[in-house]
Amino acid sequence: MQALREAQGFHTLTTVFPSVTGPAYVPFLMGEHPGHVGLPGLRWFDRSRRDTGWPHFTRSYIGSEMRKVDRDLTLDTPTAFERSGGGLAMMNMIGRGLPRRNKLTDSVGFALRAGYTHFRGDVAGWLDVDRALKAEMLGRVLAERPPFTFASFCGVDKTSHSVGHQATIVREALTIVDGFVADVTAAATREGWMHELALFVVSDHGHVDVRGHDDLADLFRDEVGLRVLAHPKIFGVREPEMAVMVSGNAMAHLFVELESRTRPWWPALSGRWNDTAELLLRRPSVDLMMLPHSETSVEIRGGGGRGSAMLRRVDGRYDYECRTGDPLGLGDVHGASDSDAWERSLQTDYPDSLVQIMALNDCRRTGDFIVSATRDWDFRGRYEPIPHMSSHGALHREHMLVPMLTNLPNDVPWRRTQDVFHRAMQFLGV
Ligand SMILES: [Zn+2]
Repeated sequence: MQALREAQGFHTLTTVFPSVTGPAYVPFLMGEHPGHVGLPGLRWFDRSRRDTGWPHFTRSYIGSEMRKVDRDLTLDTPTAFERSGGGLAMMNMIGRGLPRRNKLTDSVGFALRAGYTHFRGDVAGWLDVDRALKAEMLGRVLAERPPFTFASFCGVDKTSHSVGHQATIVREALTIVDGFVADVTAAATREGWMHELALFVVSDHGHVDVRGHDDLADLFRDEVGLRVLAHPKIFGVREPEMAVMVSGNAMAHLFVELESRTRPWWPALSGRWNDTAELLLRRPSVDLMMLPHSETSVEIRGGGGRGSAMLRRVDGRYDYECRTGDPLGLGDVHGASDSDAWERSLQTDYPDSLVQIMALNDCRRTGDFIVSATRDWDFRGRYEPIPHMSSHGALHREHMLVPMLTNLPNDVPWRRTQDVFHRAMQFLGV
């Protein structure tokens, strides 16, 4: 990786909101924002009742439902595997277009091993999983030379969650990635096909240490007294009044008026639910709250008395109007293009915020309140097999900015993780 850095430099890209594995793989594997292909988060509530099953009508991609990602994706956006006509992948979550034998981690044996490692909270065990996968993937890549390979090493994330991202074991997890890059490069050089190899070494989200867990499901269930639907307590909740769907764990979608089959939008909800919004904004854990007003407008409120602003998309351009405050720290923005909006927000605490919030609002599975956590906090206090010392999912720059190394020349500016997909497809000529 050091050699790649010295040859072509090191780039910083923005990932997506929510900055969480699964949704954050969509840019790499489909070239899109997750909100545009139907994945608003790691967990969501299905208002339509068409996409999930009775009795709870929710989805969580943690555990056995991970296999349902492909069926939840929109059909009009092809995956890298479909576009390139083949491929190999491991820990990919999105696998549409890949034959089963080319998904290294799709076997029952692997699921049992990974599940055992995960639910036992065995952090060092994840490094063994990464090492075994590295060896298997290297063998397959060298033997088959597939057009597109997606190799995800989860050790860095798992160890960061459990012991914090500064810990020595996180560096050890990174050396496995480094070894894979080195071995592929050495083989391609030795065998004379390095010119056919485009390499991207990239992360799907950042990490920030957390000091407190403000369990929103417990808050609304125990303190407010609502009937709450939240994983793992999704069975036996009669006539739920709220669904709390956390990702990462530093962001959450909250759904209310659950009997409505379509999104109710904030103007209709504000009378009954504004106290809930105010209650959330008083929590030290809540940094930003987004309230969808329509398909093209979202109100943004800042915690700690930072006031509210309105985000609108008009003819594909972005307007951000400060009202009682400037929660995104951008000042008023008028008629910004997609790339202007990226440039203007890059140095703020919330890189690419305007485009990311609007893209998430485009998803019909998005919640009625979208909350992004304060740096020191996340939104789940219980039921995690690995204790969370560190989290991600929010719009903060530490979560949103990701490193990228590549052996491709830098003739076009790099902005978002989507660019990796588009440059890879360009390299393949598809
Ligand atoms: Zn994670």
